[in-house]
Amino acid sequence: HSNFNQKIDYVFKVVLIGDSAVGKSQLLARFSRNEFSLDSKATIGVEFQTKTLVIDHKTIKAQIWDTAGQERAVTSAYYRGAVGAMLVYDITKRQSFDHVARWLEELRGHADKNIVIMLVGNKTDLGSLRNVSTEDAKEFAQMENLFFMETSALEATNVESAFLAVLTEIYRIIS
Ligand code: GDP
Ligand code: MG
Repeated sequence: HSNFNQKIDYVFKVVLIGDSAVGKSQLLARFSRNEFSLDSKATIGVEFQTKTLVIDHKTIKAQIWDTAGQERAVTSAYYRGAVGAMLVYDITKRQSFDHVARWLEELRGHADKNIVIMLVGNKTDLGSLRNVSTEDAKEFAQMENLFFMETSALEATNVESAFLAVLTEIYRIIS
């Protein structure tokens, strides 16, 4: 077994937040298993997925938590120990972007003040249905001191980069 005796240097907990149906579970499926499903149902019972990767010669286990369809019932336990967050909206759903400020408030109320936050505009493959401009999101992210990237879980665009950017920044802060 290739994982036998693998020494883990760090475990980083990262939480996925954002409105229902923005693509959080599919971003996680893409990142952790390189899978995607168009008719994804809320995965009940699965709390997190892990992916082990190497950053700067250190073995890092990313433990990515998903709301598993319980967006309304996210509790402080969900945020406990999180060092990173992916705050996801859907670029075709203006409302999911308008709610980002609320998610940010909740995150800042519950999580560690040094948490690394990436604002993620997902579903760039649906460009013709876009309702949130890249510039608006970029401006918001700058104002709020967030990292920002647009992704497509479907086309696997920027998914790895977005998670990697967060994990690398976390590593940079703690090392
Ligand atoms: P969640 O509720 O935030 O976890 O959202 P899901 O991951 O369950 O995705 C909701 C719906 O959007 C599903 O039908 C997904 O297949 C679809 N979806 C997720 N990501 C993308 C994407 O990048 N592009 C497109 N076109 N659909 C996506
Ligand atoms: Mg989900």
